[in-house]
Amino acid sequence: MTLDNIDIIIKKMEKALHEKQPRHTALRKLQMEEQDNPFKVLIATILSARTRDETTTKILVNLFRRFKGAKDLAEADIEEIKAIIRSTGFYNTKAERIKNISQLIVEKFNGEVPDNIEKLLGLPGVGRKTANCVLVYGFNKAAIPVDVHVHRISNRLGLVNTKTPEKTEFHLSHTIRKKHWLRINQTFVMYGQNICTPIKPKCKLCRLKGMCNFYQNTNTFA
Ligand code: SF4
Repeated sequence: MTLDNIDIIIKKMEKALHEKQPRHTALRKLQMEEQDNPFKVLIATILSARTRDETTTKILVNLFRRFKGAKDLAEADIEEIKAIIRSTGFYNTKAERIKNISQLIVEKFNGEVPDNIEKLLGLPGVGRKTANCVLVYGFNKAAIPVDVHVHRISNRLGLVNTKTPEKTEFHLSHTIRKKHWLRINQTFVMYGQNICTPIKPKCKLCRLKGMCNFYQNTNTFA
């Protein structure tokens, strides 16, 4: 089975977003500014967990002002990394992860981030969402990173009926043609941050009401 109306869904989301003119997500901004820098995308995705986009962007700039890339971070004093990223949540764990990953990338991959999912998943603490973000935003390769926004909106629309982001990724990747994959994360995340928000979604602004299970089952928001 293929999900043939995904192009229409994405276009309707883009139109609604265009009217609202929201900021780009941290990863999309990075992709546009850096023109394919998988290492920065990888570090940004680690930093972004439970952290606001603006904070992630600010910390990333400070981190890479001090350390130029994987080799510098592999050799860095862990306390210095912690001090720079202190304003993100879980900075102790994130600092250790950043250093460990940098060391592995230098030792095993000659300083280059691998561009396939199996090798990315072999890096310490890298799960499917992070690995898929690196593929999409760092290498421009077709993948569907599923975060809380992609998971929630896919379920509200009825594209999937799943309990976990991993299952959502599995179902979306089996029903959506590959040519659409690159646009899904960017569009759904912006939509989730600005219109189909976790609490009190702004259904009034949404052009997908007619095809949304959640709206049709509740229809209490306006
Ligand atoms: S109608 Fe409401 S719940 Fe459904 S996708 Fe749009 S904003 Fe989200």
